[in-house]
Amino acid sequence: MPLNRSPVIPAVPAIVCAVAVATATACAPSQSAAASASQGATTVAAPPVATARTAGTGSTTGAPGIGDPDFPGDGNGGYDVEHYDLTLSYDPASRNLAGSTTIRAKATQDLTSFDLDLHGLTVSRVTVDGAAATFDRQDDELVVTPAGRIADGGKFAVTVDYSGVPQSLRSASLGEYGFIATPDGAFVTCEPNGAKTWFPANDHPADKATYDFQITVPAGLTAIANGELSGTPRTTAGKTTFVWREKHPMASYLATMTTGKFQVRTGTSGGGLPIYAAVADSFRGSLDTLITQTGKITDYWSSVFGPYPFSSTGGVIDDHAVGYALENQTKPIYGGFTPEPAIIAHELAHQWFGDSLSIGRWRDLWLNEGFATYAEWLWAEHNGQGTADATFRRYYANEADAMWSYPPGVARSDDLFNAAVYTRGAMTLHALRREIGDQRFFPLIRQWTAAHRYGNVTTPEFVALAERVSGKNLKPLFDAWLFRPGRPAPVA
Ligand SMILES: [Zn+2]
Repeated sequence: MPLNRSPVIPAVPAIVCAVAVATATACAPSQSAAASASQGATTVAAPPVATARTAGTGSTTGAPGIGDPDFPGDGNGGYDVEHYDLTLSYDPASRNLAGSTTIRAKATQDLTSFDLDLHGLTVSRVTVDGAAATFDRQDDELVVTPAGRIADGGKFAVTVDYSGVPQSLRSASLGEYGFIATPDGAFVTCEPNGAKTWFPANDHPADKATYDFQITVPAGLTAIANGELSGTPRTTAGKTTFVWREKHPMASYLATMTTGKFQVRTGTSGGGLPIYAAVADSFRGSLDTLITQTGKITDYWSSVFGPYPFSSTGGVIDDHAVGYALENQTKPIYGGFTPEPAIIAHELAHQWFGDSLSIGRWRDLWLNEGFATYAEWLWAEHNGQGTADATFRRYYANEADAMWSYPPGVARSDDLFNAAVYTRGAMTLHALRREIGDQRFFPLIRQWTAAHRYGNVTTPEFVALAERVSGKNLKPLFDAWLFRPGRPAPVA
């Protein structure tokens, strides 16, 4: 996700400027847009602290949090989701969403009750393996008590029927996210924990799963989700149903059901990958460029980062100006602006760094954003618009930059998307590249994406692999760049 990052240093050359211009003019939320967007959004003051029902040893109560110290209420314990089956019907006129979600999961302990995350909406019925279950709502936790105990290791299916007007979320460092109603549909971007605004979930990237979507909207609208369309959308009685399938594991925040009036084009990249591009009517002039650049950049990253992890690539431009883009799996979404190639390069790099390889705790966010920002520099280098080394040196020269006092290796819940995670994270990778050389650095990146494809990753795992590939002790380098305040010593 690139967003309204802090001001770029003065006298920036072409490529950094291109990103900055896009950020300043198109990506940055205007005050009025931000103000109007806030209506109906739920302000998130602080992550809920899960203390009331914390499961102890031997407990058969699934914990209300998955164990992320910075987001203690996010996700849940006691089970691992394998698949989400989402049946959804959305009516933009009334803003009502009716849903039935079936989650196939495996218990990781004996369970007499467990939680799902769900924000607002009214639950009408819950079943576990077809039998009625009792349920309770406690803030954003949906507590499910099945009729019988689920044994450790047992597989089960929980179905939740629900409806209501989804309420988006708001955070200080990001703005509005989750299910955001628009005049013609919905703009759905869920990082970090907004999936719960439209379906019950284990809403944390540590629990990835595959997804089936069956989304019904008024005829004439398009519903866009992840993965690929199954068959041709069917229209009956004035409503059209779109069936999408993401057969590769996905973090919940990357799921989308963006809907509205869209111009859609499909194609194939030079490398043979299917592409799906969609733009709101007011961006129809950007459709050609979006599909062309998306194919070209996906193919290029496949040669740099390793094989593309998914079955299709794509992009969506909606006319809702949230002030950021998000790397929704297989289809990054651009919120109300035509993306510069650098931004497309950033979002598509996330398909490897964030989507295929997902963080297991939010403090490792630099593994997503540092890599995607560094990809912007690599894209510029590839296009002869200045080397990554030159970009690195320009940032390094600015001693007054706030990122020096803000180590990126410990992203905080109250300021998750801070500039250090992006820029200093990218600089960390460049410092590593200088230290171990291109002949080790790029194979390291490909080994990283291959070893953890579709999985979860942590910073210590990356440091360990970098040391293994290079045969060097790199702890001082990573310590200085990621974990200590202050500007690290110059790189050689
Ligand atoms: Zn990003």
